[in-house]
Amino acid sequence: MTVDTVPADNATPAARPARGRGAAGGRPRGEGQWALGHREPLNPNERSKKDDNPLNVRARIENIYAHRGFDSIDPADLRGRFRWYGLYTQRRPGIDGGRTAILEPEELDDRYFMLRIRSDGGQLDLAQLRTIASIAQRFARDTADITDRQNIQLHWIEIENVPRIWQELEAVGLSTTEACGDTPRVILGSPIAGVAETEVLDPTEAITEINRRFVGDPSLSNLPRKFKSSISWLADTPYEANDVSFVGVIHPEHGPGFDLWVGGGLSTNPMLAQRLGVWVPLHEVADVWHGVVQVFRDYGYRRLRSRARLKFLLADWGAAKFREILEQEYLKRALVDGPAPDLPEKPVDHVGVHKQWDGNYFVGAAPIAGRSSGTQLGRVADLAEEHGSGRVRLTPYQKILVLDVAEDRTESLVKGLQSIGLEPRPSAWRRSTMACTGIEFCKLAIVETKARAAELVEHLERKVAELDADISIHLNGCPNACARTQVADIGLKGMLVRDDATGEMVEGFQIHLGGGLGMAAGQTAGFGRKLRGLKTTAVDLPAYVERVARHYLAGREAGE
Ligand code: SF4
Repeated sequence: MTVDTVPADNATPAARPARGRGAAGGRPRGEGQWALGHREPLNPNERSKKDDNPLNVRARIENIYAHRGFDSIDPADLRGRFRWYGLYTQRRPGIDGGRTAILEPEELDDRYFMLRIRSDGGQLDLAQLRTIASIAQRFARDTADITDRQNIQLHWIEIENVPRIWQELEAVGLSTTEACGDTPRVILGSPIAGVAETEVLDPTEAITEINRRFVGDPSLSNLPRKFKSSISWLADTPYEANDVSFVGVIHPEHGPGFDLWVGGGLSTNPMLAQRLGVWVPLHEVADVWHGVVQVFRDYGYRRLRSRARLKFLLADWGAAKFREILEQEYLKRALVDGPAPDLPEKPVDHVGVHKQWDGNYFVGAAPIAGRSSGTQLGRVADLAEEHGSGRVRLTPYQKILVLDVAEDRTESLVKGLQSIGLEPRPSAWRRSTMACTGIEFCKLAIVETKARAAELVEHLERKVAELDADISIHLNGCPNACARTQVADIGLKGMLVRDDATGEMVEGFQIHLGGGLGMAAGQTAGFGRKLRGLKTTAVDLPAYVERVARHYLAGREAGE
């Protein structure tokens, strides 16, 4: 496996001199930027990608590993390249959070996999939903979580079953290709694209085009790190937290199109995306998206994984330089200056019964913190069909929507969803609580999240039932912030904390207060304040949130 993964068209920037720019943004040479001639891998991840294009691992899974079993898997594939097809080994049961950082990877690895199925734009038809449900029941011990990136994650997958699962998914137009890894991952889209009353342009065709042209394209399969995208007219995705986002806007001369944002990302050095100040018509979205990815591929920092996301390059360059490089080196033309979009005051999760532009209705329902199952998803497909619908959507807030329901059938659908544990009229607590995978399956986790979220919601529904406002609570099992710690009203970062009563280190959370996305135009979204001393044990978490809620209810101003 010594094939250089870099395809011919990738070689252009490397062969090109740096044209006097020297190191970008005044940084010393040596960040591992291909465009500046740094082609020698500077860390093990880069070496692994150069040794063999990770997309090649599929053939080995199909032809070797699925037949010879788990023990035959090359460790470099197991802990690296498998991700390019949405496969991670899951955490071996029984390893507590205190040992997460000190054990070797092979000690944390279980023999089972998490498999992430991408659903770009969160769009699924009933055949797709039933296929996922059936696979979950037969091969994944009935697990099927809805993620906050509109994916479905299965667990307990055995390598022997992976080729068959791919066959079944691909037969209905689904895929796990580039669901993880240093790749262009699933594209977020509005869950109500195409049916929203206030949508002017449905960008689904751009999402579809990007998928068709670029997902699985070897020239984009070795990015410095993951690359997250969002394309939505309605700004009802967390667009500020993506590497690239297109948000709907009307240009006073050119009409409807999209405002381009780049360089957002949360995790340990959170940064919000910045507007480049350009207007992009729908038919150019895919090409501009491609240009942004190529800037990242060629100029992104590859020396340190911790500095490899696009946000670090943007922080050094600034939006004006990024736009200049994008236009001059990749698009070969100037982009049109554009206005800022009108943005919603709060993210919209689409839970409840809502009218579509065509007179039908959609019904959005909340599981608790994204936890679902194959059985439940299969029942959703049945209910949708019984109520005349052929379409389901997943949301970036871990909710599920059934579209295209006649008005006189909505109440029956609401009752049907409630009967299977999905709540179209959830409490404020259930509605606004999200959780990442956590210690149940994630090897990086320090604490449990999904079960804690369920306990927390149950406690708050009992104790503070009078809450009539959304207080978003995001539980994260470690600092990686997969459930967007920093942009919740109450963001919880999993860590070990000292239990005052016993002196022992136990599962707990550091608390970020007052973060948010989607602020009104002219203002900016913001990160919650990380209060260093503000921590709670996991056991005390329900009582802590209850106190915060009571304090808020007692002290809020009229209309707040
Ligand atoms: Fe795993 Fe940490 Fe991400 Fe949660 S935040 S899914 S624990 S990496």
